[in-house]
Amino acid sequence: MTTLTPASASTTLDSINPATGEVVGTVPLTPIAEIPAIVARARAAAKDWAALTPAQRADILRPAGQALMDRSEKLGRLLSREQGKPFKDGIGEVQGCGHRLSDEVDEIAAAVQPQVLTGEGVESTIHHDPYGVCAAITPWNFPMLMPHWMALPALVTGNTVILKPSEETPLIAQAYADVLSEFLPVGVLQVVHGREQGPALVHADVDLIAFTGSKATGQAIMRAAADGLKRVILELGSKDPLLVLEGADLDKAAEFAARNSFRNCGQVCVSTERIYVDRRLHAEFIAKLVEQAAAFTVGPCDDESAVIGPMIHAKQKAHVTAQIADAVSKGAKVVFGNQPRDGNFITPTVLDGVTHAMDIMTTETFGPVACVMAVDSSDEAVELANDSEYGLGAAVYGEESLARSAARRLTAGMIGVNRGIGGAPGMPWVGARQSGIGYHAGPMGHRQFCQVRVVSRNA
Ligand code: NAD
Repeated sequence: MTTLTPASASTTLDSINPATGEVVGTVPLTPIAEIPAIVARARAAAKDWAALTPAQRADILRPAGQALMDRSEKLGRLLSREQGKPFKDGIGEVQGCGHRLSDEVDEIAAAVQPQVLTGEGVESTIHHDPYGVCAAITPWNFPMLMPHWMALPALVTGNTVILKPSEETPLIAQAYADVLSEFLPVGVLQVVHGREQGPALVHADVDLIAFTGSKATGQAIMRAAADGLKRVILELGSKDPLLVLEGADLDKAAEFAARNSFRNCGQVCVSTERIYVDRRLHAEFIAKLVEQAAAFTVGPCDDESAVIGPMIHAKQKAHVTAQIADAVSKGAKVVFGNQPRDGNFITPTVLDGVTHAMDIMTTETFGPVACVMAVDSSDEAVELANDSEYGLGAAVYGEESLARSAARRLTAGMIGVNRGIGGAPGMPWVGARQSGIGYHAGPMGHRQFCQVRVVSRNA
């Protein structure tokens, strides 16, 4: 099933419910030839928008938070029908964007206040100025949260934004942009729809490309951006490890392993994709993981008993089932799941006895599979965890000092010790190695949407 209507055949893009194959709605495909004019409109709007202070821009956007909250039920159901996750998760995603928006715009504005430093007879001011026009290109797995994470800091820091959402989930991204646009001047936030429209936007006269998506697309964007040395923020895929070491609370580790392998049907950039368990804990951990896995019932978004929905499309399901088949052919054992399901549905699966000779331990899966490998020491666990081109998140469960020591040796950008990733407020969202370039969130992340300028004078 594909949602992309060939441009030659149609001027519209259908959004398909991945559980039923039904058309949820339709948006106009943006004609490629119109993209330069859209960028020119954004550039024209950028002058007045950049002239406001960050606090003024924060105030303009602030009411959008309540507007999202007021409409969260309706928007959440649309999100779920388009992306597949249960209604409560779709509504939760909308509320996740709305309820902290007012605080977020203040945090972003505070992060880009000028900073004054004086020394050796010179006073210097560091300014964080907008780049100009930001292309925000986003994936389908969190189809409102991803546009929110990219567009909001770009806007409050003074850029105008052209959002190019995934062609799998255009409706909810458009709805999000429509809510923000109720409060914004014309041209400050525009939306471009379609697949080929992504590369066309990257080639157009934009200053910054804020991208979240796959590694392959990130590489294509970086190559294309090289021409004009356009700034890029790339948040890419991963193959996150979980280490279960001596002294681990196995109930908590198994609960985390199941939740983080299966939530959103495994379609999360920081899903647990590889699990390395101390051999002495292995049997007990597997038993607890299987027990937890049974709770992840599968169904369409309007099935209240379902914890997870379908995969986004048939291609993604085929990728996951091929990885499982490859692993089984090389000696992995299915200890839970892997029963055939119709359509885009797939059963959460636990594999034991996996190795790094299997594709499922090296290439991003992005599906509900927990892959377990027994190890003889924490050193071996760290070595295997670091044997990956990726490095977004990681988690370590174990006796506190052993777990902390392992965490410091992991090459990921965000690491949880006896918990998942995600730190105190203000922490950046950051990937190491081939999981990204640059980062966002927190004061450090918000400043990535800005050109730094230093103005010095004699003190
Ligand atoms: P994708 O790379 O296929 O598509 C993402 C977006 O890029 C879409 O809007 C698409 O139309 C556009 N695009 C495709 N080719 C393009 C090109 N050549 N130039 C410009 N734009 C182009 O990714 P996806 O399948 O939508 O999302 C899944 C991926 O996203 C996974 O790899 C996941 O790990 C990653 N992801 C990462 C994070 C993070 O924070 N690091 C968060 C969510 C998802």
